[in-house]
Amino acid sequence: MKSSDIREKFLKYFEGKGHRIVSSHGLIPPSDPTLLFVNAGMVQFKDVFAGYRDPGYRRATTSQKCLRVSGKHNDLDEVGRTPRHHTFFEMLGNFSFGDYFKKDAITYAWDLLINVYGLKPADLWVTVHPDDEEARRLWVSEAGVAPERIIADPDDFWSMGDTGPCGPCSEIYVDRGPSYPGTSMYDQGHRFMEIWNLVFMQFNRDETGKLTPLPAPSIDTGMGLERIASVLQGVRTNYDTDLLKPLIERAALAAGVKYGSDPDTDTSLRVIADHARATAFLIADGVFPENEGRGYVLRRLMRRALRFGHKLGFRGPFFTDICLHVSVVMGAAWPELDRDASVIARVAGQEEERFLRTLSSGMELIDAAISSAAASGRHDIDGLTVFTLYDTHGFPIDLTEVVASEKGMGIDRDGFNALMEEQRARGRASWKAHDGSMDTIMEHCRVNGIRTGFVGYEYDETSGEKVAATVKAIFRDGIPVNSVAAGDEAMIVTDVTPFYGESGGQVGDTGVISGAGFEFAVQDTRKPGEDCFVHVGRVAAGSASIGDPVGMTVAPSRMSTRRNHSATHLLHRALRTVLGAHVRQRGSLVTPDRFRFDFSHMAAMSADEIARVEELVQGWIFEDSPVVTVETDIEHAVADGAMHFFEDKYGEVVRMVRMGGSVELCGGTHVARTSSIGLLKIVSEGGISAGVRRIEGLTGAAAVAFLKERDALMRLVERGVRAEGAAAVDKIEKLVDQEKALRKEVADLRVKAAAAGSSGPSAPDVVEFGGVRVMLVSADGMDRKGLRELSDVMRDRIASGLVLMTLVEGPKMTVCLAVTPDLQKARPAGPVLNSILAPLGGRGGGSPSLAQGAVDTPADRSILLDALAKALQ
Ligand code: ATP
Ligand code: MG
Repeated sequence: MKSSDIREKFLKYFEGKGHRIVSSHGLIPPSDPTLLFVNAGMVQFKDVFAGYRDPGYRRATTSQKCLRVSGKHNDLDEVGRTPRHHTFFEMLGNFSFGDYFKKDAITYAWDLLINVYGLKPADLWVTVHPDDEEARRLWVSEAGVAPERIIADPDDFWSMGDTGPCGPCSEIYVDRGPSYPGTSMYDQGHRFMEIWNLVFMQFNRDETGKLTPLPAPSIDTGMGLERIASVLQGVRTNYDTDLLKPLIERAALAAGVKYGSDPDTDTSLRVIADHARATAFLIADGVFPENEGRGYVLRRLMRRALRFGHKLGFRGPFFTDICLHVSVVMGAAWPELDRDASVIARVAGQEEERFLRTLSSGMELIDAAISSAAASGRHDIDGLTVFTLYDTHGFPIDLTEVVASEKGMGIDRDGFNALMEEQRARGRASWKAHDGSMDTIMEHCRVNGIRTGFVGYEYDETSGEKVAATVKAIFRDGIPVNSVAAGDEAMIVTDVTPFYGESGGQVGDTGVISGAGFEFAVQDTRKPGEDCFVHVGRVAAGSASIGDPVGMTVAPSRMSTRRNHSATHLLHRALRTVLGAHVRQRGSLVTPDRFRFDFSHMAAMSADEIARVEELVQGWIFEDSPVVTVETDIEHAVADGAMHFFEDKYGEVVRMVRMGGSVELCGGTHVARTSSIGLLKIVSEGGISAGVRRIEGLTGAAAVAFLKERDALMRLVERGVRAEGAAAVDKIEKLVDQEKALRKEVADLRVKAAAAGSSGPSAPDVVEFGGVRVMLVSADGMDRKGLRELSDVMRDRIASGLVLMTLVEGPKMTVCLAVTPDLQKARPAGPVLNSILAPLGGRGGGSPSLAQGAVDTPADRSILLDALAKALQ
């Protein structure tokens, strides 16, 4: 059975059981600061399970892209070494949101495996949690599993976080037969392989760890597509399925090796195939190699693959080709692979080239570490060096280990681990500091059934007549309180709000919440969950309590925020028109004052491209087209050409925003008609990381003010050069040219003047010491070049002798000595000059014909003559 059929049959099976087929979420999780990558099918439904969002259906099925390379789920070290682990894999899943529970979940899973996929019950085993008698009973009564094939496993318990939904789970294993190592369900061989995990979410865990039954328990299951494919295709490992074998074969062919002939070679080929998939999917989802965060994970994955390639004997680029081959294998199911092929080619290609260049320098570093370890009598490379190689140079620990062992050295793994742990702890602390208090607030609201309705698309303010708002929760220092008084810093949650909560790059609104004698200055609005809006600020007057009715007024600066947000949509469209369809939004920041827009593009924009983008946008502004917002579902929106981007989180109902030909999914606030933007001005364009550019821009009054200021400056310039417009520019160019010419002329004249022996302070003077004629010349006011020219002229003039030139510049005196050819052997310029300068506390040097030096305080003529006399004795 082809993997595409396996996927299709799974989704169709559950569709037939009333499940909605929902498309995979991207690899970047919906706004969740605790998670780097989506690592299970349930991630996109977290807020549904937690009761924050109603998707409009109660059963769903997906094939979700997953990546397990960080955090609690990190399978990186297993990849290539076990038959069943990948970094990137697809997880097939079925979900019940408070609808069916254990009985149906068990029945469906068994029915699909036996009756659709044709597995034999004799090959299957099941685990359950020791306390979950219900599940054990159902496996027997509903699926007919023999009781001795149901094993109790205390690890079969799953939870979403420290608090929240959790429950026992039950896993289905396949016995792959005696040709695999491992003899029982209890040992670690690969004979028994977990294929499917059914999670029964039946409790809520509170802060004290107490479990209370959920009113409507839920189901979350996950089965690895690659694993079930290996079983159904009757092959020994996931890597021999149609999902991975073609990649392995391509790599083997390029390397000139044979898969299956040597265990080490096989591991390398498997790692390369696995990492190529992860790389291709990550880039298609907008992750580019970077030195931090998600981009860093990608960089590490790529470098690891390249290192294994190095082991296979590759010395030039090979990996990008394998990444591109992923679309040949999986492009039919995942259209983004074809759509973004050119981006994958460029981004992966650039990174590969770059690493190949650093690989050789890294090898030198390792060599140096090995010699210094050997010199100090150690038999291993210390932990700090291993960590630095890993952290700063991107050398995976196993690379360092292999290279070290080739030289008979080990590595200090414990030292390395300790440093890694420190780094992880730092990372955890920063995530926590980042959103800890918002988590508590969100949990408080969820438990107390507090939800905020957002009315900010229609209203900038609420008052009793339009919409009544009531204070529902108040927090001081992150702790729920009943009331707050003047001077308190606090956070207020209401049942409705016109305040936009920070999300999708748009900053939170500011403004005022007021009640009887009470005023609260809102400094920021946060939105930690779909229906959870938190107003952060300070009580300016009076006091407020839970239950108080309030009026809420958003500050007028919101209009500027609207302009800036709408401008980013038009800008995005214009960039795609001018630069090409590969341009994708990588991030944005929309504030009342300005906006920032990051996008993928490999080269700096030319002035002409920037001008064309500005013109296009301005044209759409002048068109005065209406901004139309409709709520629809994601499938319709995408079919309508809406662009949606990885980091945004969309519920099933999405907002589609159209204006001037741009269609995007967006939850932000916008102008009513494009003309309200007024004016768009790009003020800067630059690179922020490989393949990512950033534009900063202004709209409306801010753009006008910017142009006015420029205009005022231009007027000052015009007045200064006494010409207008283009003539002023011509004039400045002319002035610059003229100034250059004049400088040269002055320099030439100085040489001539000094050489001509004209009267005045620069008149040359000839003295004689020990039969050598010395010409003294003052070269004040000349530059270095002039000095050289002057020395040539004077050397000719004196025919045989020395020319000593002095040039006083501020507190310093430069001294230059030229010697005619006949004397250069006997009196080379360098040593002679040095002996002149030494008694004056200076130094000099140069060739036999010309030397130059300096002293810190100008010496007068008599001192110089004394020094000269001594030097020529
Ligand atoms: P294992 O113990 O084999 O690592 P797991 O307990 O981590 O599996 P779950 O977290 O329960 O797995 O994930 C659900 C399913 O996803 C698994 O039953 C398996 O089929 C699949 N799966 C999990 N991790 C991987 C992986 N790294 N590569 C491929 N498939 C995986
Ligand atoms: Mg695992």
